[in-house]
Amino acid sequence: MENLTASEIAGFGVGALLLCATIAAPRVDAFISASQRRSLDMCKRCGNLRMIACSQCKGIGSVRKGGAFGFRVLEEIYESLEDRNTPKQLVPCIKCQSKGRLPCPNCSKLP
Ligand SMILES: [Zn+2]
Ligand SMILES: [Zn+2]
Repeated sequence: MENLTASEIAGFGVGALLLCATIAAPRVDAFISASQRRSLDMCKRCGNLRMIACSQCKGIGSVRKGGAFGFRVLEEIYESLEDRNTPKQLVPCIKCQSKGRLPCPNCSKLP
């Protein structure tokens, strides 16, 4: 590390700052769009899409078998012991009928 010059060190500093800015940008973006929605009188929850991602399956439309029956803790302990590459058994999500989306409770009038 003795060959580093002051400008090289400064370069690393700028690089780190740029990296931080890149990581923070989507958060700032989300914050700005949320306040824009509020000022435009749009739905805060879904931005007038009338849909939200299903919380049960995280929007993928399937859940892991057995996940909904209260064995989650045991399952997770078991999973940490077994091979991570073992394919998960997936079953269609009941909550959203495997669509991965639910009508927005804030603005959707659908049943
Ligand atoms: Zn779902
Ligand atoms: Zn909504």
